[in-house]
Amino acid sequence: MGLPPNQAVRPLLFDLGPRTPTTREIAQTVKTAGTSALTDAERRADLARYQEVACRSALNRVEGMPFKWTLNPYRGCTHGCHYCFARRYHVQFEMNADDEFASMILVKRNFAEVLARELDRPSWSREHVAFGTATDPYQPIEGHYRLTRASIEALARGSTPISLITKGPMVVRDRDVLGELSQAASCTVYMSVPTVDEEAWRVLEPGTAHPLQRLRAVRELADGGIDVGVLMAPVVPGFSTSRSKLERTVKAIADHGARFVGCNVMYLQDGTRTHFMKFIGREFPSMLPNFERLYANKYPPEGYRNEVKAIVRVLQQRYSVQPRERREDPGREVRPPQELEPEQVGFRW
Ligand code: SF4
Repeated sequence: MGLPPNQAVRPLLFDLGPRTPTTREIAQTVKTAGTSALTDAERRADLARYQEVACRSALNRVEGMPFKWTLNPYRGCTHGCHYCFARRYHVQFEMNADDEFASMILVKRNFAEVLARELDRPSWSREHVAFGTATDPYQPIEGHYRLTRASIEALARGSTPISLITKGPMVVRDRDVLGELSQAASCTVYMSVPTVDEEAWRVLEPGTAHPLQRLRAVRELADGGIDVGVLMAPVVPGFSTSRSKLERTVKAIADHGARFVGCNVMYLQDGTRTHFMKFIGREFPSMLPNFERLYANKYPPEGYRNEVKAIVRVLQQRYSVQPRERREDPGREVRPPQELEPEQVGFRW
């Protein structure tokens, strides 16, 4: 007689014994039998499942970005933003870019210890590191594991400069160690607040803190002497790109003491594109043709992007908040300089 389905998959992990499985072993398990085979993953009160993994390296070398190294202690993000470009990385890991991205989180349990060892190597040249490029380092589970905090402590000891991007107001918990790192090397916090429009926030970023809560965190960090600014990234056509919404957002950012503000228009690629179009088709079917037209390619037409950026540039001057230009921007790919003049295009968003 065969085992019931839920027991039939158990040996996949039980065979590994009591130690924490490696990322590769988890990937193999998921590939063979799906995420239901991760029988050790703990379901917590937020209904997400958390699978601890042992990582072999923490510093991740990247190409084609304005920085060479990234750090991500978690994989997947319960903030669940529908436009999140990191959704496609879950697909590369044999998980889906839809529900599993926000509900099956890998926790790199030994991340800070591995990082500390890497920073101690004589060959480490203290290059700039971008923290939180593929998942939010201050998503709620960080309150339990404190991997981000321990990593910042290691970076301060290792005098390694960072930029960190988050949507999590929990970052204020760590202003002491962020301050230490600022003294030892340098540290810039990029708070992501694409819009202060409540409806757009509720619809597009279902698991995140309210935008004004994020901006209050900006105020606290700025008052504590941390170099902190805001990325309106991404603004999403049809949801947050109208002049009035852009203006309300830039004004709120300036009012909360941000040292700079940057803006990027959403781009869609691979699994993120598939997820986003499915989401629009299900929740806002009348908008789908416009999105399909605007996103015939990964980016909307350059004229559209320039138009949005030109509006933001005027608002930056109006509210006296410095543009982000020339700072490293986690999540932004290196692209050729763009034509700066606004160009009217045919989309009504
Ligand atoms: S907070 Fe960042 S990493 Fe998390 S889902 Fe949203 S965009 Fe993605």
